[in-house]
Amino acid sequence: MDILSNLNERQLEAVLATEGRVRVVAGAGSGKTRVLAHRFAHLVNNLGIDPANILCMTFTNKAAAEMRGRISRLVAAGDANDFVCTIHGFCVKVLRRDIHRLGFPKTFTILDEDDNETIAKQVLAAHGMDRSKKTVNKLLGRVAEFKDRECPDYISIYMLQDSPKFRDDRGFSDVESFIHYQAMNYALEFDDIINFTLFLLGKFPEVREYWQEKLNYIMVDEVQDCNADDWKIMTILAGRYGNLFVVGDPDQAIYEWRGARPAMFVDWTPGTDIVLARNYRSTPEILDVANSIISNNVRRIPKDLFTDAAHLDKATHFHAKNDAAEARWIVQRMARMHGHGTPYSDFAVLFRASYMSRAIEQELIRKKIPYAIWGTVRFFERREIKDALAYLRLVAIGDNLSFARVINTPSRHFGDVSMQRVREISRSEGIPYYEALKANLDLWRKTKAYPQLCAFIWLIDKCRDMQHTSGISEILNFILKDTGLTESYRDDQKEERLENVEELLHSIRAYEHSHRHGDLSLATYLQEISLMTNADYKDDSSMVKLMTIHQAKGLEFPVVFVCGLSEGAFPSHRTLRERRLAGLEEERRLMYVAVTRAERGLFLTEAEGYNIQTRADKFPSRFLAEIKEHLLVREGKIDDSIWAGARQLAGSINAEIGLGADRASASAAEGPQDCDRLKVGDRVRHKFFGEGTVLTVTADGSRVKVRFGTDEKSERHLLASLLEKI
Ligand code: ATP
Ligand code: MG
Repeated sequence: MDILSNLNERQLEAVLATEGRVRVVAGAGSGKTRVLAHRFAHLVNNLGIDPANILCMTFTNKAAAEMRGRISRLVAAGDANDFVCTIHGFCVKVLRRDIHRLGFPKTFTILDEDDNETIAKQVLAAHGMDRSKKTVNKLLGRVAEFKDRECPDYISIYMLQDSPKFRDDRGFSDVESFIHYQAMNYALEFDDIINFTLFLLGKFPEVREYWQEKLNYIMVDEVQDCNADDWKIMTILAGRYGNLFVVGDPDQAIYEWRGARPAMFVDWTPGTDIVLARNYRSTPEILDVANSIISNNVRRIPKDLFTDAAHLDKATHFHAKNDAAEARWIVQRMARMHGHGTPYSDFAVLFRASYMSRAIEQELIRKKIPYAIWGTVRFFERREIKDALAYLRLVAIGDNLSFARVINTPSRHFGDVSMQRVREISRSEGIPYYEALKANLDLWRKTKAYPQLCAFIWLIDKCRDMQHTSGISEILNFILKDTGLTESYRDDQKEERLENVEELLHSIRAYEHSHRHGDLSLATYLQEISLMTNADYKDDSSMVKLMTIHQAKGLEFPVVFVCGLSEGAFPSHRTLRERRLAGLEEERRLMYVAVTRAERGLFLTEAEGYNIQTRADKFPSRFLAEIKEHLLVREGKIDDSIWAGARQLAGSINAEIGLGADRASASAAEGPQDCDRLKVGDRVRHKFFGEGTVLTVTADGSRVKVRFGTDEKSERHLLASLLEKI
């Protein structure tokens, strides 16, 4: 097979430019990854280079697997080898071979998040400090900061057997003890993998020379997302032969928030520079949408993609009345296309944040459509969701499994011995665990656990009473507050957990609303929801795929749905608040990445309703307004007031982060619509909340706080444009 015959002229040039420093800058779907795979095959098949001497690195495990797949179709069996991997994957190979020089065994341990927490707890206990989640996370944060900034030489000072601080750990701070523990146990954190590799390459000429000598050719995909250390590693590795081939797209830089340095790619000086402009992935309709969005970025080298692909349907923007309707529409569309022969595996649903998968998952399960979720756990299998549901189940059903799950969540000093005791009483008396504990609470009277166990019994009994008077969401809210779980997610900065439980509460409220005339008992709700938690599909090949946009990088799917496109959620208000214009432009690149995953079908969806994350009404994202009108089919009735609200929300977010309306987006360019300015004390009417009184008004007059009833609970932060002055 002549592998070079199916490349265009520019791509061929890139494949044949095997020597020296070469850079390929190109937009999405222009064949960058294809060039890498073909270049690998060309080196092996046509130039006779041993695959063991070629290093080909990319960003995520999925992308590495995809790359390996593409290469193995082009070369003889066995030639697509281990050196097609992620940067971390490569560093682990270096360490396995050479870390013994630092006194570490080849079998060193790589710590995961749970391991880190366990070690942190041990360290805190040894220092006589409390071991709450909050302190644990703080300690881990300080360890990272110490290694990264305060003490970049931490390896030679603390972690080697001949280090000055290796033997004598007296007077150590908790951070130092953590690192000491790692050293004593030959355990590396994720960031240590890169740091140790750099240390070995820097301090041991024989290591550096071995790898430099071995790696004739080095290629790196998705270079726009490499950080300074990644660049250091590839530059050192290419130190002998100088054959470094880097490929990327500055418009797809989406990891600056995590330290990536796209500017290093843009400013790099190559011997050969190649630009690819023809897109092979998507239809012209999809590409126009992508170009239309990304052209709004001001900090950007303009480049437009073109395609010769056949014309197909326009992209669709669907506006729903609520998130359940949005999910229903997506799944109906899939079912319809499936009926016309599109396999489920052709569909991908992409979202900005993982909590957004909940509504879609629920609908897919209801319609019995198999789906796989990548990079994260199915919504109803996430730890915090299972914990919350286990509390509810303990209240309504009182089963042992739920008891065992929650008795020590959060920690109540109820260890294995106590659990064993409860089990024995339960067995001998034939009663559930919860009743066994409650009836024998005295047995724990002298233990540290006692006050918390009393509080636990009080809570469960109280919630059992509440079932007669309160809604399910109220009960869950009470549990989350009383146990301190909400607070602990907030304190630990586990934003995702917090978002997930808030999403669960939100879905329960919607459930209550839609079942308000029927059976609303907790037990019935739990039965319905258990269908969600037990859904189990094994075969991966025929499933709809769900993932965050970050996970979808470098991949492609015939039909893509991007859901949850509400202003404040995407672009994320939080990112904008933290990083202003840089944040907005990174969000827009993320939108560009999402759109350019699609080959022939693109659906962009969002819904009205209340956004629990941004604590405001939902309006279409500014990105939807940036797409030129003639490029989209709009479905779902959008009132003018919705667009007005969207403009105003984008405008007020821009004002908050100090961006002029002109720079923000085409949609905001018209500026917030004029509205009769509200003042504190004004009486107003809202279509959903009714009549109320204005309590506060923001400086630009766009947002107000209104009290609709008699107490604080009835206060809402709202857009002024949606209120009618009375
Ligand atoms: P991204 O920026 O999203 O990572 P990319 O630039 O790496 O995209 P590829 O994934 O390599 O693009 O290519 C996109 C699609 O176009 C793939 O399906 C690829 O096989 C196809 N393709 C690229 N070049 C050609 C070509 N010359 N002939 C036929 N198909 C091609
Ligand atoms: Mg690619």
